[in-house]
Amino acid sequence: MGSNLLKKVVLLFFLLVIVGEFFAMSSQNESKSANSFAIVVHGGAGTYSREKKYVEEVNQAINLALERGYKILEEGGSSIDAVVEAIKILEDCPLFNAGIGSALNDSGFVEMDASIMEGKDLRAGAVAGVRNFKNPIILARLVMEKTPHLFFAGEGIDNLIKKFNLDTINPEILITPEQKKRWSEQKSKTKGTVGAVALDKYGNIAAGTSTGGYAGKMVGRIGDSPVIGAGTYAKNSTCGISCTGLGEFFIRQSAAFQVSALMEFKNYNLESSVKEVLKKIFDMGATGGIIGIDKDCNIVMEFTTLGMPSGYIKSTGEKKIILFKTEK
Ligand code: ASP
Repeated sequence: MGSNLLKKVVLLFFLLVIVGEFFAMSSQNESKSANSFAIVVHGGAGTYSREKKYVEEVNQAINLALERGYKILEEGGSSIDAVVEAIKILEDCPLFNAGIGSALNDSGFVEMDASIMEGKDLRAGAVAGVRNFKNPIILARLVMEKTPHLFFAGEGIDNLIKKFNLDTINPEILITPEQKKRWSEQKSKTKGTVGAVALDKYGNIAAGTSTGGYAGKMVGRIGDSPVIGAGTYAKNSTCGISCTGLGEFFIRQSAAFQVSALMEFKNYNLESSVKEVLKKIFDMGATGGIIGIDKDCNIVMEFTTLGMPSGYIKSTGEKKIILFKTEK
């Protein structure tokens, strides 16, 4: 009898252990599938008009880019897909200095730069000086995924477009009346670069940036946006970053990489790291902005200019869009 009871107790004990393990495993899976995801976008740091119609239009464009990118993440898509989709929308919107609406150089035509990076394996792609293609971010992705190289410029870009049977455009369609006016009035320092960073359900971070550079820039000038580590950076163990501002300064500070490095080697959190890098750039004499997401889904939209149209949506349902400093 006594040994029977002992057997039952031992059996019960093992049953409890098995049931416990089962629940532990299923709750682990739950927290995996419930992994946080998010997207953050920006439309360039600078000085923006507060005119109602303009503010509304910029808001709508940022919102559309966020919603489309978020939908991809929600449906289980990758952070790279979300970033490309969001940037394409902003490139197609004439309100921003990327794709259609890009700033004109000192000879009166458009030369665009873009880059993209994924934080999982540090793969990246970039293009500079694009003249006849509507969405440079697509070219940057193509370079990353379909060539053994990372950075293309000049004739190589035309060859890529031909090789992959992509459609070129008449460069005139990139020129909006507003940019033409700015150019003829010699108003330089146009802002409005676009960028996006996303963290997907699988913990992969991606970042991308696309720009027309600056109004009145010299032909052939390349800014920080296509330079990996300056305008764009992504590393799953730290963060994803997209920058905007005077590119020459962001390159000199390796801005995007520096944010990640401060987190990795100095234990900074995302916010203090971004603030530190913007401060260094400010102290050197330039303003700008940085957006980022860290591996734990914390988001930063920081800028030292008066405005930076930007926004984010998180899987928690949290959503925010801002244009000016006062709204922070
Ligand atoms: N960073 C861009 C460039 O220097 C411009 C900007 O973000 O406003 O080309």
